[in-house]
Amino acid sequence: RAKEAGRGKHQHYTPSMHADAEERRTLEIALRDALARDELYLLFQPIVSASDGRVSGFEALARWLHPELGQVSPSRFIPVAEDARLMGPIGNWVLRSACREAATWPEDVRVSVNVSPEQLYDPAFLETVVGALAHSGLPANRLELEVTESVFLREGMGAGQLLEKLMKLGVCLALDDFGTGYSSLGYLSRTRFSTIKIDRSFVEGAARNQRESLAIVRAVVAMAQGLDMETTAEGVETEGEFDLLRALGCTNVQGYYFGRPMPAADARALFGSSDSQVA
Ligand code: C2E
Ligand code: MG
Ligand code: MG
Ligand code: MG
Repeated sequence: RAKEAGRGKHQHYTPSMHADAEERRTLEIALRDALARDELYLLFQPIVSASDGRVSGFEALARWLHPELGQVSPSRFIPVAEDARLMGPIGNWVLRSACREAATWPEDVRVSVNVSPEQLYDPAFLETVVGALAHSGLPANRLELEVTESVFLREGMGAGQLLEKLMKLGVCLALDDFGTGYSSLGYLSRTRFSTIKIDRSFVEGAARNQRESLAIVRAVVAMAQGLDMETTAEGVETEGEFDLLRALGCTNVQGYYFGRPMPAADARALFGSSDSQVA
């Protein structure tokens, strides 16, 4: 947390900082064994086409259930994994598992996998993706990789070139949590994203009729249309929010209103019925 503590004048070593460092250390040690002990698993959250309510894909979301620590949320363990250089093996496992599952879905349903900056700075990541596709038999265009703006923060780390190579494989790219990082629009013209994901904070604000959020959602949708990209609104929790985002022209919607992140078997069951309409 030292990165976030910069606002104070002095860096006092407080008991809570100690606890935080201790907690991270505990998590790191436990995380080293998590894969081998089968403690990680994936949930899948539907992404729905706003125009016809069909499931166009699922986002794979990592979960960790530790026997003593209990459920640890990815917002806590992913940063620890990144710092401890564990993101390679964990990310590899996520990709392989997600692709293997998606290969059992109907042909027009995609899987979206979150990729952290550390993964993209590793040149071996390309082989990881190629391997996951080959093992599962999933066509490249049914895999979408979600990256955040922060991957472009460290220029010279090669993330741009790696994204270029991934695109040449035929993999789709989504820009996650758009507008919440340090945005520079330059990379939007350089990297061909297929989807911009509009962060839940703007979705929520727009639904509360907040002028700024509404303007931002409108502008992002217009920009995406001009760039031939789709938009996915994140964190849609109510029918009212859905109606608004559809009216604003978002291509896809995702959120508790359509489905919480669910086990693979439940996701599969959505296809069991004659069609996969959920809205
Ligand atoms: P994200 O990629 O932006 O994922 C969306 C988060 O919003 C998920 O939290 C999801 O459960 C939550 N969400 C979805 N719909 C709603 C809604 O209607 N309301 C609310 N309040 N929340 C909603 P989750 O699963 O806790 O994941 C948090 C973050 O952890 C993800 O944000 C992503 O950045 C990261 N993450 C998760 N799995 C992975 C992974 O396999 N690899 C990497 N690198 N990061 C991951
Ligand atoms: Mg995501
Ligand atoms: Mg997101
Ligand atoms: Mg988010």
